Amino acid sequence: MVNETGPRLAELAGQDVPVAAWCLGCGHHRVLAVGDLLARMDGRTAVAAVARRLSCSRCGSRAIETRPHYAGLGVVAGHRWHEE
Ligand SMILES: [Zn+2]
Repeated sequence: MVNETGPRLAELAGQDVPVAAWCLGCGHHRVLAVGDLLARMDGRTAVAAVARRLSCSRCGSRAIETRPHYAGLGVVAGHRWHEE
């Protein structure tokens, strides 16, 4: 199992922060409630790893990226938010 870095779902739940998910295929994005994600996966799941459990509802792509959706940060299309 990959040792993912970054915040975990349980941390976001404690901060009442949702998860923003982007499709790299078509640019579709959604904001997902952490409570819904916790119903399907463990609270120790890294937010970045949630992407691997998702597929795009619009184009079906599995090339998804996820990050915490902190209030006030907004959604910036194409914003580079990690360096891997
Ligand atoms: Zn898509």
